[in-house]
Amino acid sequence: EGGYNILRSSFANKGTAFDQDERKKYGLRGLLPPRTETIVEQAERALAQFTSFQSNLEKYIFLNCLRDRNETLFFYLLVNNLELMMPIVYTPTVGEACQKFGNEFRFAQGMYFSSQDKGQFREMLDNWPHKEVDIIVVSDGSRILGLGDLGTNGMGIPVGKLQLYVAGAGFHPSRTLPVIIDAGVNTKKYLDDKFYLGEKHARLSDPEYYALMEEFLVAVYNKWPKVLVQFEDISNDHCFTLLENYRNRFLCFNDDIQGTGSVILAGFINAVRATQIPLKDHRMVFFGAGSAGIGVADCIVSLMEEQGMTKEEARKRFWFVDSKGLITTNRGDELAEHKKAYARTDYTTQLKSLLEVVKDVKPTALVGLSGIGRSFTQEIVEEMSKNVEKPIVFSLSNPTSNAECTAEQAYQWSEGRCIFASGSPFAPVEYRGHTFVPGQGNNMYIFPGLGLGAFLCQSLRVTDEMINTAAKTLASNVDDAEVITGKIYPGLSKIREISVQIATNVIEKAFEQGIATIQRPENIEQFVRK
Ligand code: NAP
Ligand code: MN
Repeated sequence: EGGYNILRSSFANKGTAFDQDERKKYGLRGLLPPRTETIVEQAERALAQFTSFQSNLEKYIFLNCLRDRNETLFFYLLVNNLELMMPIVYTPTVGEACQKFGNEFRFAQGMYFSSQDKGQFREMLDNWPHKEVDIIVVSDGSRILGLGDLGTNGMGIPVGKLQLYVAGAGFHPSRTLPVIIDAGVNTKKYLDDKFYLGEKHARLSDPEYYALMEEFLVAVYNKWPKVLVQFEDISNDHCFTLLENYRNRFLCFNDDIQGTGSVILAGFINAVRATQIPLKDHRMVFFGAGSAGIGVADCIVSLMEEQGMTKEEARKRFWFVDSKGLITTNRGDELAEHKKAYARTDYTTQLKSLLEVVKDVKPTALVGLSGIGRSFTQEIVEEMSKNVEKPIVFSLSNPTSNAECTAEQAYQWSEGRCIFASGSPFAPVEYRGHTFVPGQGNNMYIFPGLGLGAFLCQSLRVTDEMINTAAKTLASNVDDAEVITGKIYPGLSKIREISVQIATNVIEKAFEQGIATIQRPENIEQFVRK
């Protein structure tokens, strides 16, 4: 191809790491500074450059541009500095990067499909430069983190998530495909923004929208029958329906519903261990009844069922609050389908505020998945802490500014007694001579291993049992002594080992359920590692 083109191909380029023989062989002599470096030396320089940037957004742009020059170096750096860089390539920084996507745009990544392209999706897929694709993350940009409808600006999310699949579970970067389905945008700011790069029209009607999704999925599975599709950051008027429509037809899952459900279930299993109250006796108030809230509750319910409760008994342990207050069957509005199973039947008066609900229910656990920052007030956390020794406070909305309360607030207001987890990372908190390490209910613990397991065994689908298995595997990575101190998640630096365990157990489960379609490997763990 000629040396110059090799240096311009992010997959082939090794930069200064090309040795002298390679430089001769590929026509690179004179095109690089003389000294050959190891990847360790290259990474040291790249890390120094990364660190020199002041703002997180600049760091994000630096990393994306590095990837565009040298995939190998980028992933080497990411894998070896995951805890440092994850808040840059994913939440919270990716949120800001999406909001400013049009302004900061430098080069295109992934693929875009819009209503203009109707009828041509299959043919367009042939434009993708790589022959094989193992995993696709697809979003319509309609609910990016907790930031609302960002339309095509949402591309940062599939791009970032797939980087984490590579870093967390070893998917090959060239076999990952980030996708945005542009179905319009309802945020006026972007419709008026001269730099906005998506189609400038309001979101499509439901029939038009579902037709685009159908065309996309049929095209994808026609071209790559083995691929795993992961739905991401799709608003809750569509995400549940999409999942129901496709989860038995194709190998797919929705990380906001199922991945979140699984990772929070894992944290919850360990928080319950810490409280020493049996799961069946917990009273759980959920603030937010969207894809994440319902997904998490469904996962906890399936664990309660496994422990001998009926679905109905289990669901009675939940009180959901949405934008209109406590969700009841008789509050006089038409409830969205996904809320009906959790609507309370035992209330005659309407509780409007979270504080009223907490006073009434006296919960053992308060779970925030509302996207509403600082909605767990001092009064609410103090009220809750009156009634339980170790209140579970999960403040899960992203990014950091949307967290229902900060780690520091939760520890202070509960006098250091709460078991805390958040969605975005919080630094350790010093309180009355103790150092509290807040848990991060980061989907990153689950989706790489879950996706890898489901893909490797070519499962027919991703089942609730596989998701449950993933959660238990994660939870078992924290031992009793740690749990007692309030530590409910393992360190993220162990992620690849955890992914191996999760993938292994997920594959076992798929064989047990008779839905794995490969020949059973002799040793599943070795198969995963390979
Ligand atoms: P969603 O589908 O839009 O749901 C949001 C829910 O919050 C809805 O039920 C909504 O009520 C409710 N809500 C909005 N404003 C409210 C208010 N003022 N008072 C009470 N409830 C209110 O969003 P989602 O996908 O569930 O995500 C929600 C949040 O969870 C996001 O911030 C996201 O970043 C976070 N999340 C965290 C993790 C994690 O920590 N691992 C994973 C996934 C998502 P209505 O139904 O009445 O509109
Ligand atoms: Mn998401």
